[in-house]
Amino acid sequence: MKTITKRDGIKTITKHYIDGAFVESHGRETMDIISPTSGTLMGRVTLGDQEDTRRAIAAAKRAFAAYGRSTRDERAQILRRLHAAASARIDDLTAAMVEEYGGVVQFAGLIVQSGVNAFLAAEKALQELPLTHSWGKTTVTLEPVGVAGLITAWNANALFICLKLASAVAAGCTVVIKPSELSSLQTAVLIEALHEANLPKGLLNVVSGLGNVVGAELVRNPDVAKISFTGSVAVGEKIMRDGAETMKRVTLELGGKSPTILLDDAALDQAIPSALVMAFLNSGQACAAGTRLLVPQSRLDAVKRAIVDAMPAFPVGDPADPKTAIGPMVSHKQYERVQSYIRKGIEEGAEILVGGEGHPEGFEAGCFLKPTVFINVKNDMTIAQEEIFGPVLCVIAYDSEEEAIRIANDSKYGLHAAVLGTDLQRARRVASQIRAGRVVINGMTDDPQAPWGGFKYSGVGREYGRYGIDAFLEPRAILES
Ligand code: NAD
Repeated sequence: MKTITKRDGIKTITKHYIDGAFVESHGRETMDIISPTSGTLMGRVTLGDQEDTRRAIAAAKRAFAAYGRSTRDERAQILRRLHAAASARIDDLTAAMVEEYGGVVQFAGLIVQSGVNAFLAAEKALQELPLTHSWGKTTVTLEPVGVAGLITAWNANALFICLKLASAVAAGCTVVIKPSELSSLQTAVLIEALHEANLPKGLLNVVSGLGNVVGAELVRNPDVAKISFTGSVAVGEKIMRDGAETMKRVTLELGGKSPTILLDDAALDQAIPSALVMAFLNSGQACAAGTRLLVPQSRLDAVKRAIVDAMPAFPVGDPADPKTAIGPMVSHKQYERVQSYIRKGIEEGAEILVGGEGHPEGFEAGCFLKPTVFINVKNDMTIAQEEIFGPVLCVIAYDSEEEAIRIANDSKYGLHAAVLGTDLQRARRVASQIRAGRVVINGMTDDPQAPWGGFKYSGVGREYGRYGIDAFLEPRAILES
């Protein structure tokens, strides 16, 4: 069944996925989907309301009665079926991410692939996870927490949905997903794909809609035991507050202002391109983007030259072009937000090394902007403290290793960090002093079994591997006398 219909070149989505079927929305409000690349109308989505959400929660609750008692093997089988179903549509999923979000195709492909792989990674973690532990007359089992509400952000839709769904399914939970309203087309393609996995009815439910309507209902509904959320700190705080009334378990994957520490023995010809890749990841719209580059004062001039030399490898352009490194921002609102931070940086006395305000020449129609590198940045400036969520890099000078570590940790966030240097022992020593959920050494890398999540305002809890599954489990002890 097709969820996306096409009329006059406009794609229309009017259905949610509830109890194993595509059903017409009860909510009647609609939202336009605007292409970030051309600025033109490309689709329209009908937004779900409280009633749609309650129907989805009720379906998930019915399904939990059986699925909550599933065996490890049954869950593993379902994860393999989900992987096969998603794998069959990788090209369509990538195309949707490029079209609706403006994700550059070279990165969108990787994101989609990580999402698809999440099902097999969760299966591996599940096989290795001890679900029962006994000693004497005591037996502890890890039980699924119940119906889970999964609320996601717009910058890597397929990855967030697959990752959360995989962990929840591995734990024996049933789910209601509230994708970002800016990801409706991408979600429709993904759910069409996952429908082919022939899941038990009600295990997977998806309601498109606004955060303060569909998301809020998930957060306050007593039949939802757990919320796994990816998004902003402001909404994360609200979920924690509002969820307290029904004692919600929460996993919050929030923002970042990640430091990249360039040590004084780093080889600049490798370290600077690597630092820029991390800064401009996903066109800068990445929670893990390395947006503060800490460099030794003694090498500042050489670093500036190396940045200018490396910039041609990061061209702005049509996201569908495989050569493009930086695409448009997801929306006009996001474009304006990044512009306001660039203005703020100038006002606060930082100096522009590359980029600046406005559209790059020839890209006036969509939400394109100039990748921007600020120098002479002090860590207490707004642009060094707040998450901009665009391709804006702050270069901050330091005098000693201790100062670099202090600056790196002088942030309300603690999601991700990087250390670049030739002496590996030293890089490890520095990495071990960073207050962040993940620290990479000498370049961006991933391990789907390693935990992902933040210290401080970057969130609560972890995703990925056994850590992600744990977040959907409750221990139960049975004691015999
Ligand atoms: P957002 O917080 O505005 O929205 C995220 C989701 O929450 C959306 O689906 C939205 O509809 C929903 N929502 C909004 N109000 C709600 C409410 N009252 N109750 C329940 N749900 C509600 O975030 P965004 O703009 O979509 O995403 C960007 C943010 O996400 C950035 O801060 C970024 O760092 C963060 N992010 C974090 C990670 C991570 O893994 N830590 C990954 C990607 C993005």
